[in-house]
Amino acid sequence: MLSDEDERVRLPIAASEVRQWTFCPRVIWHRRVMPHRVRETPKMELGRNAQTALERLEKRRLGARYKLVGAQRHFNVRLESDRLAVRGFCDLVLELPETLTTPRHAYPVEVKRTRGGASAHHRVQLAGYAILLEESWGLTPNSIDQAFVLLLPDDIIVPVPITLELRDQFEQSVQDLREMLRTERFPNPTKHRSFCPQCEYVRFCGDVL
Ligand code: SF4
Repeated sequence: MLSDEDERVRLPIAASEVRQWTFCPRVIWHRRVMPHRVRETPKMELGRNAQTALERLEKRRLGARYKLVGAQRHFNVRLESDRLAVRGFCDLVLELPETLTTPRHAYPVEVKRTRGGASAHHRVQLAGYAILLEESWGLTPNSIDQAFVLLLPDDIIVPVPITLELRDQFEQSVQDLREMLRTERFPNPTKHRSFCPQCEYVRFCGDVL
């Protein structure tokens, strides 16, 4: 029979957890190793409502806004990598079908409903979606070179180049996160301390305020 620790390490990791890990590894420790009861914060509620807002917005526009004329839109796409044991739901995938001269292409889009532009941790998450999308849909490895962040409520689209460096950052973060799950070592706090006062785990992080 597997111990609680074995179960935790074997569980698939969500791509959104990898994003969270690159922003503040302690949040994942609080959620996975030491589950606390926390109340839903306004930020968590915003995240849940983002999908509805995205579908409402995207229904009335065409791929031209992303400079991808003729792209098909797929909402809330389930993605998985057996190799990395990572799963995720990508808010939107834009697909350009194969033609006589070009292979099938896909572009992940992530909606972001917080202020501050397309941040480094969202870029890492999009690199993860690119990897998962290539593996789930059988696309050529490293063929996805472009993704987008859709900033709401301003409705701004930010292109994010998917570089090899970003891909490496995602895979390294997956490894580091799994190592934390194995050892249960309490990680360092986020470097972005201005977010701590609004964090649902701040009362369990005694050294940040
Ligand atoms: S309070 Fe700060 S360091 Fe602690 S989990 Fe939240 S964001 Fe991370």
